[in-house]
Formats: sequence, C-alpha cells, structure tokens
Amino acid sequence: MNQTSPTPCAPVATIRQRGQHEVFCGLTSIIWLHRKMQDAFFLVVGSRTCAHLIQSAAGVMIFSEPRFATAIMEERDLAGMADMHDELDGVVEKLLQRRPDIRMLVLVGSCPSEVIKLDLQRAAERLNHRLAPKHRVISYSGSGIETTFTQGEDNFLAALVADNAANSAQDKACDLVIAGCLADVVEDQFSRLLTAMGVENFCFLPGRQSDGVPRIGPKTRYILAQPYLGATAAALEALGATRINAIFPLGEEGTTEWLRAIAQSFGVSETLFDTVTSGPRQRARQAISHYRPMLEGRSVFLFPDSQLEPSLARYLCREAGAEIIEIGSPYLHREHVAGEFALLPVGVSVSEGQDVEVQIDRCRAANPDLIVCGMGLANPFEAEGRVTKWSIEFAFTPIQGYEQAGDLAELFARPLMRNAILAEGSR
Ligand code: SF4
Repeated sequence: MNQTSPTPCAPVATIRQRGQHEVFCGLTSIIWLHRKMQDAFFLVVGSRTCAHLIQSAAGVMIFSEPRFATAIMEERDLAGMADMHDELDGVVEKLLQRRPDIRMLVLVGSCPSEVIKLDLQRAAERLNHRLAPKHRVISYSGSGIETTFTQGEDNFLAALVADNAANSAQDKACDLVIAGCLADVVEDQFSRLLTAMGVENFCFLPGRQSDGVPRIGPKTRYILAQPYLGATAAALEALGATRINAIFPLGEEGTTEWLRAIAQSFGVSETLFDTVTSGPRQRARQAISHYRPMLEGRSVFLFPDSQLEPSLARYLCREAGAEIIEIGSPYLHREHVAGEFALLPVGVSVSEGQDVEVQIDRCRAANPDLIVCGMGLANPFEAEGRVTKWSIEFAFTPIQGYEQAGDLAELFARPLMRNAILAEGSR
C-alpha cells in the first residue's frame, strides 16, 4: 500500500471554553435512530418540553404511527407524590398492548428524569424479567445536561453493546464491526466495497433490526464510522474488541483512508484495494470538482455542534480548497480525531466546549464567508447578512462514502450559491 494510516495528531492549541452553550440535547438523535432500527420503539421519560422537542424536530405526520413517544412526567411525579416505577409500568403495558410488534423497547432518560434520579436501568431490568424475550427493554440517557445530540446516539449504541454482551441472538462473533449510524444507502455501498475486497463477516452497529446487533468476541475488530462514539468505543473494548484507527469516511480522501485502514487490517492486497476503489474514487473526485469553484478560497467558521466538525473541516480544507478559521467541537475524542488534525494546516484554531457570546465575537471579528452552526445561531447571523449552514443537516443527510462526496460539497456550496444569486438580484 502506498499510504500509511494517519499519524498521531500534531499538537493543536485548543481554546477550552466553559459557558453558555447552544446545542440540541441527546433526545434529538431519536429522529435518525428510530428510522434505522425498524422494530425498536423509543419511549422518552420526560417533560412536556421533551415531547415538544421530539415532535417538532421529527415533524410527525398526524396519521403516522411513529416509533417514539414521550411518557410525560406530571407535577405529582416530579414532586415525588407518585411511584414513578408503577406509572412507567402502566405506560409500557398500554403501549405494548397497542403495539405488540415492538421487539425492542428503549427507555430514554431526560433532564427531568435524571433530576429526580429515576433509575431507568433498573426499570429496564425489572421490565425485562416480565417481557423478555418477546420484547427486550434497554435504557440510555438522552438528557441535555452536559450532552449534545450526537451523544444520544453514542449512549444508545453503548447500551446496545452492553445489553448484547448478555443477550446476543447471534451465534458467531463478528470479525469486523462498523460502529455508527449510517444511512442504509451508505451501508449498502460499504458492504459492496468490502465484499469485493474479500472482507467477510462484518456487521453494522446499529443493525436494521434489534436482533441484528453483532456479537463481540476477543478477535473482533471495530472501526468507527462516526467521530462522536467515545462511550461506544469503550463498551466494545470492554468486551475485547480492538479499534482500527482511521480518519472518518467523509469525502474521497476520508473514505479511501477509512477503507484502506480496514483493508490493511484484513490483509487485502494493494492491487485488489486499488481495483475495487479506483472507479468510485474517480467518481467522487469528479463530483466534488463540480462544487470546488464555489468553495475554493472561501473562509469557514465551524461552531461546536455535531462533533463532526474536525472531519468536516479536513474535507473542506483538503478536498474543496476552503480556508478554515476555527473548528469548534462540543467535545474532542482526541485519540479518535488525531488523524483528522494531522491532516489540517498547522496552527488552525480549535475550540472545545463553548462560551457562546465570546465565540460569536470571535466569529464576527473573523467575518467568514460561511458559518456552520446550530439553528439557534443561524437566524441571527443571517439577519446580520452572514451566510450560514445548519450543522444538524450533516447528521440527517447521508454524507459518508464515495457516492455522497459530491452531495457533501453541495451542502456547503448551496448557501453560498443562494447568497450569490440574491446579491446579483439586488443589483
Ligand atoms: Fe430539554 Fe432536557 Fe428534555 Fe432535552 S432532555 S428537551 S434539554 S428538558
């Protein structure tokens, strides 16, 4: 192979921030998780605020049968006047009577349930005694206390791994686990590429069905498809799995290096790797080149939101020719993103955590061409005449892999194109 795995991160001066932060909470991840695992149901144990967030963010259609809901805690629950475990059991019973097709029930903790110290793990264990194996019950925290929306996925996957250690429906351990929620279309593309390279017995975490959660054994290797999976990585390693180190599969370069790391780990020859990937690489480069003129030389400021920011910045800088002003991330799993930073220009500004007002001042002073930020910041910035991109779109849109490399460039280019058209029209 003519390229090696990413080298450890060059020292990066990080601005560490503690202050007001503006990110969605972990409940938001239910929006893509419930679509992914099709026999699971996510029951948030929370307040009316949690219910509003989930319903408005997911845009529930009135006649649809969604696979998530909120068990709303009323004032008497919060005041300790009701036995919360009895109340929860009653809600679960009614739900399963109406929806017997639910195979996995996921109890999702929230700020209110954590504040009153409702132990959902214990509740899940108790319900499992009664309901398993017909329905499995697991729990995780989606609370917004000190967590961001992608950490909801991390907590869910870590809970799946821990549950599966005791209850896997699979006989044989997976050789390769690809951890991180990916759109089905992206999974299918990766499956085809890996199969063409002769890599066998690989599994995706999460699977599309609850009984598809991979069994982990001491020979299992895993690779992260998302950079925000610190708890999941720890849960997999606790069962003996070892991590394949790679940058993340965004853009032609990211996808190639990610696949190359798997190929090297499984002894795939360089010739076969090149044969399998050369066509898709060429297509990805061509798709990106269409948008490069709109992004080249443009300055971009990334606020901390999805934890995808270091990978997005690497892609923007190296494949689209953009200039990165600041890379914000709510948390940095330094070991996991070391390869990304090693590919970024020396001295690029990095911030971890958030003190939003101070960061807004830095952004205004830098006056970037494009601001990647949460929805709450985007509208005020737009009102100032600045061009923004909602960072949550990178969590909802299939952007990983070769065939999506051009779509990723388009996501960044679209607001710049719209702005150029508006500026032209106002002349
Ligand atoms: Fe708000 Fe917390 Fe509920 Fe999220 S979990 S909607 S942050 S109350």
